[in-house]
Amino acid sequence: MSRFDGRTVLVTGAGSGIGLAMTRRFLDEGATVYAADLDPSGAPDGSIAVTVDVTAPDSFAAAVSRAVTETGALHVLCNNAGASSTTDPVSCTVEEWEHTFAVNSRGVFLGTKFALPHMLAQRHGVIVNTASVAGLVGLKDRAAYCASKGAVVAFTRQVAVQYAGTGVRCNSVCPGTVDSPWVGRLLDASDDPERSRAQLVARQPMGRLGTPLEIAAAALYLASDEAEFITGTELVVDGGLLAA
Ligand code: NAD
Repeated sequence: MSRFDGRTVLVTGAGSGIGLAMTRRFLDEGATVYAADLDPSGAPDGSIAVTVDVTAPDSFAAAVSRAVTETGALHVLCNNAGASSTTDPVSCTVEEWEHTFAVNSRGVFLGTKFALPHMLAQRHGVIVNTASVAGLVGLKDRAAYCASKGAVVAFTRQVAVQYAGTGVRCNSVCPGTVDSPWVGRLLDASDDPERSRAQLVARQPMGRLGTPLEIAAAALYLASDEAEFITGTELVVDGGLLAA
């Protein structure tokens, strides 16, 4: 018996990186997984690929509704899709700020809003939001990103308190620097990708970046019945970065 046998899971940002690793792990553990992404072509075999824009209410609502209609339930929602932003408060444009918040914060709100009625009716459900260490501390040149992930951490706590005792739990996982295509793109955009990678690794107490599977493992734990007494918290998975 696997932890997610018979469970329906919807993962956003499932076409790449951390969301793809979550999708694989949930499939391995018996779940029916709706792999939602702007571009779900990377979703793994066995998952149900769904094109979703998490910033668009109709698009996100349709995906949640499809999962519930086809399987009769929605047990786990992983709000994982995210957008990068690498500017300081002065150079960040209003458009960049709005886009970052639309994906990182509004997307989490919308998924939660549409999943909750089903989860409350079932008297069971788990929401796992992918925040970031950037939501807990200030990072240089991450103005909109830090603020939007801080909003995810705060909203996670609010949802947890609002629905504690209903059978619905809500937590966030806060990755440090993870070796996903996201970080690959940031490095490629730098003047000297090799040097930039070495700098990222050098600030890691463990001397390496995290892997998408390590973040997925934390999310699956929070989504599992083993974490039944855990709600409204952040699980930091950063190789000791914040502790240092
Ligand atoms: P990634 O770029 O590999 O994957 C992100 C996925 O989100 C992509 O498949 C993309 O198509 C999808 N996406 C983007 N906008 C979307 C939208 N509007 N609707 C639906 N899907 C959309 O990145 P990743 O590293 O796997 O990041 C996943 C999450 O982890 C993000 O929320 C990110 O902020 C967070 N995170 C990543 C790191 C890291 O170092 N990689 C660290 C902390 C937090």
